[in-house]
Amino acid sequence: MAKNKQAADALLASADGVQNGANIPAVAAPDTIEILTEDETNPPGHTPYDPTPKASAYAVALGQLNRVADFMDLEDDMRLYLRTCQRELIVHFPVKMDDDRVRMFTGFRVHHNTTKGPTKGGIRYHPDVTLDECRALAMWMTWKCALMDIPYGGGKGGVIVDPTTLSPRELEKMTRRYATEISPFIGPERDIPAPDVGTNAQVMAWIMDTYSMHRGYSIPTVITGKPVSIGGTVGRESATGLGITYITRSVLKQRLGRSLDDTTVAVQGFGNVGSWAARTMHERGARIVAISDKFGGIYNSKGIDLRMLQRHMAETGTVVGFNGSDALSNDELLSLDVDVLVPAALEGQITKHNAHRVRATILAEGANGPTTPEADEILADKGVVVIPDIICNAGGVVVSYFEWVQGLQSFFWDEGEVRRQMERILLSNLEAVIGTTTRRRCDLRTAGYIIAIERIAAAMKVRGFYP
Ligand code: GLU
Repeated sequence: MAKNKQAADALLASADGVQNGANIPAVAAPDTIEILTEDETNPPGHTPYDPTPKASAYAVALGQLNRVADFMDLEDDMRLYLRTCQRELIVHFPVKMDDDRVRMFTGFRVHHNTTKGPTKGGIRYHPDVTLDECRALAMWMTWKCALMDIPYGGGKGGVIVDPTTLSPRELEKMTRRYATEISPFIGPERDIPAPDVGTNAQVMAWIMDTYSMHRGYSIPTVITGKPVSIGGTVGRESATGLGITYITRSVLKQRLGRSLDDTTVAVQGFGNVGSWAARTMHERGARIVAISDKFGGIYNSKGIDLRMLQRHMAETGTVVGFNGSDALSNDELLSLDVDVLVPAALEGQITKHNAHRVRATILAEGANGPTTPEADEILADKGVVVIPDIICNAGGVVVSYFEWVQGLQSFFWDEGEVRRQMERILLSNLEAVIGTTTRRRCDLRTAGYIIAIERIAAAMKVRGFYP
């Protein structure tokens, strides 16, 4: 898999002693697998869980942590503690499909760290989900929540599935069974999931309902990103994209003395995050010149008409073939000469293999982990300003926090209040990050990590290592 290859390269080149995921504990395969034939272990329709530890997103996350730990001279005990995920759950479960046959699915839920509170993080439905990826994503959530100073640790979960291949009924049944399997692991005071790649408000509603049915009463605060009708918050759907816009606008002003007006923007990925980032930047005067999704990309130097594009998407399910635009590959999009590049697809997109081709002035990380540590170095040499994921896309989890708080108090805010509070939290923490870059002479990612790690380490110091 290309993604793993890139991560492997990043890993081998990193000097932190983590080699090929060798220190990632292997997940023991059931003994019985050895005596089964391949057909028996991989019946048609079962996406098998591959327990082989791979060079990985988690290795990239560890590489980032180690670099910052060296830079800030973090104590060994704290480094050891923070590099490890606290709890990891793997579930295998059956679902009766529409054709009446059973298909087995595999899912995960990982809690990276609970020092600051319950864990928080999305649930991903994607064919490439692995335990390793969930570990990395959970760790990134820990830093993101600490940097936003909201009372959570990091978590993440996922199911190995392409949700677009399931019927609505199959998707609901799979979601409800996955929710049942992970239910001992989640809860309003334990771990609060949310949407991520491949999931949405409807999936969150099914999880909330399943969890509530088991308990016998409604527990909306077990999950965020729910529909507003069952205790969701206004402004959650657009929050991640809008947050990217607030942060990018502020960095543009502070670093370049520019506004978003007539700024050229390329967006990789057109799911919830990419589409709301494009739309909210466009509303503030930016020119969206390129967009891609998993099928390909489109380019129009005069700016893409987003309203017409939505119509085209509704008809075809992709941005490809949009009238009045030129076709463009993903690689070409990443190397466009634009003011702002927003990678809003998956992790591991900008690596040592393509970073030297990036010509954007600002790289605003909409996805989690889109840039490897080696790529970071190349981009820094080229003078590209990288706004790291843990601040750039934090609007989503910040508004998730508001949703949880509103649910706990059963008192709901209007959208203006949600946006104001989100902007306040994002921009005050951005100020702290920028202040740290000057004080410690480092880049934005290092500064963000330093603040996050210092906050967690301070909390851990007063709590102490139990027992
Ligand atoms: N999946 C989103 C993220 O990566 C949101 C997490 C949340 O709201 O808990 O930040």
